Amino acid sequence: MKVRVAVNGFGTIGKRVADAVARQPDLELVGVTKTRPSFEARRAREKGYPLYLAGGGKRSEFESAGLTLAGTAEELFAKVDVVVDAAPDKVGRENRALYEKAGVRAVFQGGEKAEVAEASFNALGNFEVCRGKRFVRVVSCNTTGLARAAAVLAPAWGIGHWEATLVRRGADPAESKKGPINGILPTFQLPSHHGPDVRTIFPDLSIATTAVVVPTTLMHVHVNHVRLSRAPADAAAVLNAFRRTPRFHVFAPWEHADGTPQVMEYARDRGIGFNDMMENVVWEAGVRLEERDLYFFQAIHQESIVVPENIDAIRAMFDLAPDAKSSIATTDRALGLAVH
Ligand code: NAD
Repeated sequence: MKVRVAVNGFGTIGKRVADAVARQPDLELVGVTKTRPSFEARRAREKGYPLYLAGGGKRSEFESAGLTLAGTAEELFAKVDVVVDAAPDKVGRENRALYEKAGVRAVFQGGEKAEVAEASFNALGNFEVCRGKRFVRVVSCNTTGLARAAAVLAPAWGIGHWEATLVRRGADPAESKKGPINGILPTFQLPSHHGPDVRTIFPDLSIATTAVVVPTTLMHVHVNHVRLSRAPADAAAVLNAFRRTPRFHVFAPWEHADGTPQVMEYARDRGIGFNDMMENVVWEAGVRLEERDLYFFQAIHQESIVVPENIDAIRAMFDLAPDAKSSIATTDRALGLAVH
């Protein structure tokens, strides 16, 4: 029997997770919620997703827009095994009481504090820790990117200490009211909160992060310096480790994917999901090794990197896969990503 899933909050992350759920062989998308009519609500109906009313929204507004509602969010929660909460930052923690009342499990997103859930989740990093859990939080886009890279480097060579600077996008493409539109904004939290957030997945990892926000909507870029415990043979060994791992995409120099504009153009050419790039992007020319000191860049597509992680989180919670590798393979096959 398939696990029945609701998506509460049908915005940037929620609409992608809903599509990903609908494609999985062992999950059933029962419905999605909206607080008000919008083009996204219309798309939900066009895709045949039953639409439910959330967050104190007005039924009359949907009726005047000609959008049929299947009921209230509470009625939806009564029909499912798990809710993926994709409401805005900090609204998830308010929603938790609704999930408790309905007796359903829930997956929260990275805009919530770790305490919202029993455990934080990254598929390559700590799948087993989340097995059987009732409330799980998929960590943020930046933390997911760092955790995936840690899951490759730590078992192979050990991580002594990691310094990362996160060059963060100013807004998602549709967020026309956010910025900056000119300027570079240092994040005056030194070190930034991302390092401690990675430790919700790898508690013993020595990592310090800093961040700046820049006027782009395309992706984040991480500038990494990792002091490894043991020296890899050469930079090619590190690149091969990334290449062999699911959810990494390595660009060769001859591809001329010089930066995030070309990476996102590649994603549009490829046409998966919402033209998304769900993998950590690494450039062959952007990996350098000096004995135990590894320098590398990685780019993170903020709108989509957590999407496959939400699917694997559900599989861990419901014991639907023997291990992380098989869950990741099932998810990635259904999404059209490379399967390792
Ligand atoms: P969003 O604003 O694009 O979408 C949120 C949706 O929830 C909207 O459709 C909104 O109308 C709806 N909503 C508002 N109040 C609600 C309520 N009470 N109940 C149900 N739905 C409600 O936000 P997003 O970017 O999709 O972010 C969702 C979560 O994912 C946040 O925790 C965020 O930090 C996290 N996240 C976002 C990104 C990103 O780059 N966008 C990346 C990783 C994680």
